[in-house]
Amino acid sequence: MLHETVSTLINEQINKEFYSAYLYLNFSAYYQEKGLDGFAHWYNVQAQEERDHAMLFLQYLQNNGGKVTLEAIAKPEFEADSNLAVLQAGLAHEQYVTGLIHTIYDAAYGVKDFRTMQFLDWFVKEQGEEEKNAEDLIKKMELFGSDPKGLYMLDQELAARVYAAPSLVL
Ligand code: MG
Repeated sequence: MLHETVSTLINEQINKEFYSAYLYLNFSAYYQEKGLDGFAHWYNVQAQEERDHAMLFLQYLQNNGGKVTLEAIAKPEFEADSNLAVLQAGLAHEQYVTGLIHTIYDAAYGVKDFRTMQFLDWFVKEQGEEEKNAEDLIKKMELFGSDPKGLYMLDQELAARVYAAPSLVL
C-alpha cells in the first residue's frame, strides 16, 4: 500500500500530465493556424507523450493499491503571442513539471517508499530530456526563426518527429 501523501500526489500528477497534453494541443493549434505544420506536429506528438505519462501514473496507482480520483482538467493557460513565446512557455511548463516530480520523489523519500522512488527515476530522467528539448527549440528559433527560409527549414525538421511509446513499462 502507498502512503496517503504519496498516493494523493501521484493521483494529482495524473491530472497534471493530462493538463500538459491539453496545453500542448493548444500549442499545436497555435502553430497550425500560423501554417507551421511541423511545429504543430511536434506538439501533437508531445501531447501524446503527456497522455502516456498520465496513464503510467494511473496504472502505477492501480498496481499499488492507490485510489484513482479523476478531476476536471483546467483550461490551458495560454497567452503566448509569438512563435518564440510559445516555446518559452513550453520550457517554463516543463520546469514546473520537473518541480512536481521532485515533490513526489521527496514525499516518497520521506516515507522510505523505495518502489515509488524507483518508478519516479524514469520521470526524473525524462524531465531532464524534456527541458533539454525545450531549450534546444528556443535556441533554434532564436537563431533561425526570424528568417523565412530558416523558419521553413526548422518547420520541416520538426515535421519529422516520430512518436515513440515510453520506454518505461509497468
Ligand atoms: Mg509529462
